[in-house]
Amino acid sequence: MRIDDYKQGNLEKVVEAGEKAKASQERLNAVVSFCDIEEQIKDYKHTQSDLLFQTPVALKDNINTKGTRTTASSRILDNYIPVYNATIVDKLKAAGAVFVAKTSMDELGMGGTNLNAYTGKVNNPWDLQRISGGSSGGSAALVAEGVVPLAIGSDTGDSVRKPAAYCGVVGLKPTYGRISRYGIIPYASSLDHVGLFTTTIKDAATALEVLAGRDDNDMTTSYKPVEKYSSLLNSDLQGKRIGVIKNVMDAIEDKTIQETFKQLLDKLESRGAIIEDVVFDTDLMNALLPTYYVISNAEATANHSNLDGIRFGVREDGDDLTSIMINSRTKGFSSEVRKRFVIGSYSLFTENQDKIFRKAQKVRRRIVDALKEKLASYDVLLASAAGSIAPYPDESYGEKLSATYLVAENHMLLGNFSGYPSITVPNAIVDGMPVAVNLLAKPFEETLMLSIAKAIEEECGLEGYCREVSE
Ligand code: GLN
Repeated sequence: MRIDDYKQGNLEKVVEAGEKAKASQERLNAVVSFCDIEEQIKDYKHTQSDLLFQTPVALKDNINTKGTRTTASSRILDNYIPVYNATIVDKLKAAGAVFVAKTSMDELGMGGTNLNAYTGKVNNPWDLQRISGGSSGGSAALVAEGVVPLAIGSDTGDSVRKPAAYCGVVGLKPTYGRISRYGIIPYASSLDHVGLFTTTIKDAATALEVLAGRDDNDMTTSYKPVEKYSSLLNSDLQGKRIGVIKNVMDAIEDKTIQETFKQLLDKLESRGAIIEDVVFDTDLMNALLPTYYVISNAEATANHSNLDGIRFGVREDGDDLTSIMINSRTKGFSSEVRKRFVIGSYSLFTENQDKIFRKAQKVRRRIVDALKEKLASYDVLLASAAGSIAPYPDESYGEKLSATYLVAENHMLLGNFSGYPSITVPNAIVDGMPVAVNLLAKPFEETLMLSIAKAIEEECGLEGYCREVSE
């Protein structure tokens, strides 16, 4: 579905979207909590000129919504009802959006499968046995299903761009500081971004226009004026310089992904794009995931120290303060989250800080310097967003730890380390399953990136693609 499908309609369509969300729950398990739609439309006062007039929107469950339960798919936050809205919630509302659901995610954003949600697996709309990807899996699934034209997610490592690829929708993560994160339950603050899912590039541009901008409650937000992304969109590729990340494409074994990627390059070239291979230092590429693990888990350990059953979270019994905290945290978090806190704490021990934490920060700097240097000669870098179509749950990530696999599956971390804008665009459907590519651009060059994405969308014919439309 597209935003325009709702803007031309009436509020009944929003109510219907709410019903569709409920009806999809048995198939997808994408929702943690449903929002009260009647309450939101009681005094609905928007006009058609509002960018999200009468548009149903889904929110990842780490986005604080005043009065509506917000769990980040963690047992420890099962009883958390925020007393304030995230800035983006107010912005979306002011633009006319109506919230339909809070969506499932990997617990606290930690994961790439959405198997790690307290409420269980989210099913991929195109094959229910397969995973949706994560951590913003519920948001991706609801857009791919055709329940909502826009869903909000967050992206710390690729958590918007990877599930977008697996579910066959557009997934945008703009520049760090472009969208306020005030009121979003953090994962790793130096890497966290707000991102979004739509079925068209135009809708992604519109949504970005609504969400972007300076927020005094988030000192990391930029003062740069917000562009009119949706009206500036064009799809002219003449003379555009596209660098293909060769390390990533070499690491992908899947023949179908390779073929569809080559077909796309041919089409882009015939539209006048200049395409060249870009090769990164292998050691730096191999360092992506370990560096991410150290930095993200160290930051997460600090960010989540307040989830102790005293300050926040479901409180378990205990004889004294310490045992209450230990019991609350032991029962409140899954083993994946506890494992990450152990890694994070370890790297922050005084005796380990130089050897592990600061070293990771130095490696991050070298990776970003290399990226900056490569991007200087191109408008965007391009690669397949994933090494395969959405896997089955038992095609476990943990067992495939070869260096090439890790490069193929984790290259989108480049966008988080640098904060540069990045977008996933579906480019083919193979045996009913979507395949997607990813673009990475220079900071605040969202307009240029979206325009190149638009050209890809035009060439691949998947604009507006979702289950509701394809059936
Ligand atoms: N898959 C990555 C992880 O496991 C990314 C998560 C994210 O972006 N929130 O942490």
